[in-house]
Amino acid sequence: MPPPPVPTRAPGTWDVIVVGAGPAGATAARVAAEHGCRTLLLERAAIPRYKTCGGGLIGASLAALPPGLPLKVYDTARQFTFALDGRRERTLTCATPTCAMVYRSELDSALTDAAAQAGAEVRDSTALTALEQEGDTVTVRTNRGDALHARAVVGADGSASRVSRYVGVRCAQVDLALEAEVPVDERTADRWRGRLLMEWGPLPGSFGWVFPKGDVCTAGVVAARGNPVALRAYKEDFLARQGLLGARPLHDTGHLTRCRHPDSPLARGRVLVAGDAAALVDHWSREGISYALRSGDLAGHAAARLVSAADEREAATAADDYGRRINEVLGVEMRASSVLMNLFTRNPGLVHTTVTRLPLAWRRLDAYIAGRTSVAGIMTAPLVRAATALTGARRGDVRP
Ligand SMILES: Cc1cc2nc3c(=O)[nH]c(=O)nc-3n(C[C@H](O)[C@H](O)[C@H](O)COP(=O)(O)OP(=O)(O)OC[C@H]3O[C@@H](n4cnc5c(N)ncnc54)[C@H](O)[C@@H]3O)c2cc1C
Repeated sequence: MPPPPVPTRAPGTWDVIVVGAGPAGATAARVAAEHGCRTLLLERAAIPRYKTCGGGLIGASLAALPPGLPLKVYDTARQFTFALDGRRERTLTCATPTCAMVYRSELDSALTDAAAQAGAEVRDSTALTALEQEGDTVTVRTNRGDALHARAVVGADGSASRVSRYVGVRCAQVDLALEAEVPVDERTADRWRGRLLMEWGPLPGSFGWVFPKGDVCTAGVVAARGNPVALRAYKEDFLARQGLLGARPLHDTGHLTRCRHPDSPLARGRVLVAGDAAALVDHWSREGISYALRSGDLAGHAAARLVSAADEREAATAADDYGRRINEVLGVEMRASSVLMNLFTRNPGLVHTTVTRLPLAWRRLDAYIAGRTSVAGIMTAPLVRAATALTGARRGDVRP
């Protein structure tokens, strides 16, 4: 049901302010603007901005993009090579090649343009520095010295989010990812074209990846935060083994990924959080773009409802409904991925053997990559349920 029309606002007050122009924020701003809300999208960096990310779009991400979004895809993975700490390499072929390789600067710019076309005003090089609420108004302070007022705010300011701290988001898992974008020669590009590598690593719950993008490969490693020396050593070793240490990287960066605690809040008053700011990321693959796009869409709808709420009780219901929808749609996925992550952390060899040697397991994973099933769909397979029971890797036991 569409929300009621947006009421007249006090002069100088925005309906919705969205903080952060990544996939979550750009989507929330577009959706709010499409509902007729006077929307302001704030971005700390100058757009287009670099973002540490593999830029791999699985089927769920592609399905959540606005139709007709102009976006250059640099490669599409037809094959996945899996390895266990440099050994037992095996390459499997996708039934429907789907996983698209993009640059985040380009994806996020295109999504921001779509928000602007829907009517949102975009202000880059402008960072939120503080926020407060009084009555039905949220005040956002910026590094430019402004005090901006809105009926609703969406915090989509990533994994180091200030809005997340304000809302009180709590995490069940925090990881550090280190990634390099390496220019490659023609021979190396040919070796990787259409093929993506996932290597289960030597640290608990870790993995390394190589994503092909024509004359560049994006390669990195991820593991639980807290052992940066060992993670750096793994990255060097991984890149050296993949022949990606020679050239000077275009970017060589690190970034946190966070997975929320199932009971973590998603709103405080008229302030909602989405994407990485809400710590909505797959526990196992650390895939976050589909979560950002889907939660951004839900947050844009919820923000429009907050704007048109007749009183604070209605506003509270709109914020609660947002939390419920996130839990129904994305919480189920995250719970399933936390079980998978437990299984993987306890026994990466078992997961490797299952994926690479049991055709049914690969078919399920391939269907997930293509967007035909979800992680929850994978985890209901009888074999996976048996392995989960056998290793005691149950829900709720996510490592800190
Ligand atoms: C190394 C690595 C590789 C990854 N690879 C993949 C992958 O291949 N596929 C995938 O699906 N996911 C991947 N992820 C996860 C994915 O990058 C994130 O989940 C996704 O970017 C979340 O989008 P977002 O919009 O929530 O946040 P972000 O993309 O982080 O956007 C947040 C925005 O907020 C801005 N901002 C921050 N603070 C402020 C402020 N105070 N005021 C205004 N603006 C602010 C930032 O500049 C930024 O533009 C990867 C993550 C990492 C770390």
